[in-house]
Amino acid sequence: MKENDINELANYCLNCKTKPCKSGCPLGNDIPEFIKNIKEQNFEQAYKILSKTTVLESVCGRICPHMSQCMGKCVRGIKSNPVNIGILEAFVGDIAIKNGFNMCELDDSDEFTKNVEITKGIEEINDKKVAIVGSGPAGLTCAAFLARAGVQVTIFEKKDKLGGLLRHGIPEFRLPKEILDSTIEKVINLGIKVEFNKELGKNISINKLKEEYDAVFISIGANIPWKMAIEGESLNGVYGGNSLLEYNTHPEYKGKKVAIIGGGNVAMDCARTINKKGAENVYIIYRRSEEQMPAEKKEVEDAKKEGIEFIFQTNLVKIIGENKVERIECVKTDLIKKEGDTRLSPINIEGSNFELEMDYVIMAIGSMPEEKVISSLGLELDKKGYIRVDENYETSIENVFAGGDVCGTEATVAWAAKTGRETAKYIINKFKNKEKE
Ligand code: SF4
Repeated sequence: MKENDINELANYCLNCKTKPCKSGCPLGNDIPEFIKNIKEQNFEQAYKILSKTTVLESVCGRICPHMSQCMGKCVRGIKSNPVNIGILEAFVGDIAIKNGFNMCELDDSDEFTKNVEITKGIEEINDKKVAIVGSGPAGLTCAAFLARAGVQVTIFEKKDKLGGLLRHGIPEFRLPKEILDSTIEKVINLGIKVEFNKELGKNISINKLKEEYDAVFISIGANIPWKMAIEGESLNGVYGGNSLLEYNTHPEYKGKKVAIIGGGNVAMDCARTINKKGAENVYIIYRRSEEQMPAEKKEVEDAKKEGIEFIFQTNLVKIIGENKVERIECVKTDLIKKEGDTRLSPINIEGSNFELEMDYVIMAIGSMPEEKVISSLGLELDKKGYIRVDENYETSIENVFAGGDVCGTEATVAWAAKTGRETAKYIINKFKNKEKE
């Protein structure tokens, strides 16, 4: 986007003193302040302000569900369109990469140093070593904030490239690899070591890492699709949305009908990817209404423009076929308010069943960590099978922490990044307090 257009977007911001947009950002980015600096053409300072709370500006600016986060709280949005915070954040991230701007000193970050003494240049921090397992948004953010404080950090990644879900779960049309690569390079240049092709439970173990490092942070994500436990789910032609995006091993879609089950961004990414690959019809089947879809509104609009069909208030009840998917049976839903629930719950309307011819069904209703890997770690898990952590992201084993999707936190990039940053802060505090004992 041209600088003139950026100025116009920035000038639309009212720089509200109460900062409602900041309260909507999981990372607590100081949105009015960085936008004020864009208005003043002080892009380096705008970047420094963002770097107090995040290292993923170019990424989050592009892929966060802004309407359900910061932009949903923007006062401009009450009577008109909200300020386009995402575009402005991505602009600042990109210009920082292009010009090699430095992140702020951590001592300047109120958000990070709250309850932590000055973090940089202290001996007891500098000789500490932390292992980060997994390099998605939680791992990268944790690594970056630790390294910025002077801790020696090594990232262990099971693939041969960093980025985790950011690289393997988000299509190029939403997050160009070039942008991701430069964002990661900026983080790694903070002095972080990387070991590729290292996988927990295969060629590294928690015990070994614990012996060699003062703390371990596990951020291996959750990429096994949830199942609906309905008839026909194991037929050929039923795929998990996350794994389809991760491994990019798609069947031939030309002339085929594809149903995507779910209403989040993974569902949108799958639908738009499959549509671009030439499917004849792509349907998104969602059991609630459009207003309740967790997917970013812009993604939904783009999907509609591209010809993807939405079937709302509809539940999948059966997948039908001999060996492979041939048809699906669905039922219409009513939305009712259940006591204690914050949003309306769908209930099936008896007798409203109908069938649709279909060739493929993609499940995008959520994801779980890989059971075999996760249960071999010796860590306490919660009822749903995610790693159980306390309020400081510490697991049932001392000095072993976990964050991001592997703990079942809200599955957005900004929330995952927040768990990484908060864990880094807690680990630093813990190191310092230990030295004082
Ligand atoms: Fe600007 Fe909207 Fe935030 Fe107010 S709420 S400071 S208008 S972005």
